[in-house]
Amino acid sequence: MIMMQGKGVSKGVIKGPLYFFCRQDAAVKQWHVEDLQAEKERLVQAQEKTIAQLETLAEKCREEAGDEAAVLFETHAMFVEDEDYVESIYSCMEEEQCNAEYAVQEAGEQFAAMFAAMDDAYMQARAADIRDVSKRILNNLMGIVEGGIDSDVPVILAADDLAPSETIQLDKSKILGFVTQGGSSNSHTAILARTMGIPAICGLGEELKEEYAGRIACVDGEVGCVYIDPDELTLAQFNEKYAKQQEMKELLLTMRGQEDITLDGKKVNVYCNIGSPEDVSAVLANDGQGIGLFRSEFLYLAASDYPTEEEQFQAYKTVAAAMNGKRVIIRTLDIGADKQVGYFNMNKEENPALGVRAIRICLNRPEVFKPQLRALYRASAYGKVAIMFPMITSVWEVKECKRACQKVMAELEKEGIPFNKDTEIGIMLETPASIFVAEELAREVDFFSVGTNDLTQYTLACDRQANDLGKFYDPHHPAVLRALKMAADAAHNAGIWIGICGELGADLSMLPTFLAMGMDELSVSPNAVLPLRAAIRSSIAKTCTLDALEC
Ligand code: PEP
Ligand code: MG
Repeated sequence: MIMMQGKGVSKGVIKGPLYFFCRQDAAVKQWHVEDLQAEKERLVQAQEKTIAQLETLAEKCREEAGDEAAVLFETHAMFVEDEDYVESIYSCMEEEQCNAEYAVQEAGEQFAAMFAAMDDAYMQARAADIRDVSKRILNNLMGIVEGGIDSDVPVILAADDLAPSETIQLDKSKILGFVTQGGSSNSHTAILARTMGIPAICGLGEELKEEYAGRIACVDGEVGCVYIDPDELTLAQFNEKYAKQQEMKELLLTMRGQEDITLDGKKVNVYCNIGSPEDVSAVLANDGQGIGLFRSEFLYLAASDYPTEEEQFQAYKTVAAAMNGKRVIIRTLDIGADKQVGYFNMNKEENPALGVRAIRICLNRPEVFKPQLRALYRASAYGKVAIMFPMITSVWEVKECKRACQKVMAELEKEGIPFNKDTEIGIMLETPASIFVAEELAREVDFFSVGTNDLTQYTLACDRQANDLGKFYDPHHPAVLRALKMAADAAHNAGIWIGICGELGADLSMLPTFLAMGMDELSVSPNAVLPLRAAIRSSIAKTCTLDALEC
């Protein structure tokens, strides 16, 4: 048995085979091939598989978006067998006596460069199509599947660390838990694990080796331990812990349908954080009373080009309708810093966390902001949608956002498109600046939601992604807690409500402090709703104190 110690970032225990994440952009290597005929057959199989996948995609596309979109995939399928392209792959294999992957990569690049050099803009744009087709063939040759998991059974996913754009594409139904070499409790893998309600351990370092792939692992997210090939005693202890966990889950189910209210009558809205429309099922299963943070960037991270207004509208509408009149707070695009999206072509920054990110991108690029706002207002006709702006530091930013909203509403009105003109507008308080000007900000909006992940990062000057900052990144620091208190007072003085949507909101040890501050809402991962409800229902708000704010 091998035992590894890391940092538990999402609770729970689980057992399953270890699977190493296959990067979609894994480097293509060249190697010598003796049997060229067999290699060509392998290529043919990969081509056939690619064509079948493209045909399925075309079919799906035709049903969902019509003929025009489907034609693209049909053209790609035809290109897989294009005579010149295939000839060029074969000659490379023969000349270099090499593997199919290398030849596909070479031929793809050669063709793409040829198209990119043409005068006609339409032909130039075809270079991307050729790269896309070659990538699909390569993935099939290398056993890389979309969603990153080529396994028939659910697995414990191991990786060095996962980027937000990678987590977004994972086939979640195949993941039992996460173990990573790097990462931190605020990294997006950890947040995803908590949303999914599965265990995760990060910071395992070099101990986590690819050679363990396929072996049985027991993961204990509570204590941060991974056991590979567990011995009998460990397995027995593990099974006992697993049984207790299931029992506790059953017990918590009795909290479904109960009100989020303290023993002395203080109501706290327990909402959920989600990252995609898929997560709504977990919100409903855990009886979340609303969505306090819908991270809309999933649409941008999952795509290879800007999502259209229509695509966004469909996603927001789906969530709003599924929540059936309960509040759904959708945060506008929050990319930049650790969430990079290639097609935004952002300049390289020395300090991306302090750079052009979130609302700064939206205010700089109205062509990106406007379609999102239009989609949000259109969705407001199908449920109780609220709009929330991230990373605010100044009052002028909020005023500009509101002007953009007014413009969009006027346009929709003119076009006769339905929307809710009373859609609530809120902001995230994630920067020390926003706390200092909270009184003024509160006059501009309907609600505040504190993003404690970033607020801790910026208040303590600690990178939330770094896993070696350890105790220096401390969301319980009195400076962070006093900032929360200042924000709560500013909100209540102005007569608006305030909540917390950062990870700290789910920290049960902080509940008395939040009750003492008068927090009106706590937005947590779906899995954390019922334990939080149980804690609220056994609390007495008026006996809670602000002792935690002392140094
Ligand atoms: C936060 O910063 O606390 C937050 C909720 O936003 P995100 O984690 O998406 O940056
Ligand atoms: Mg944030």
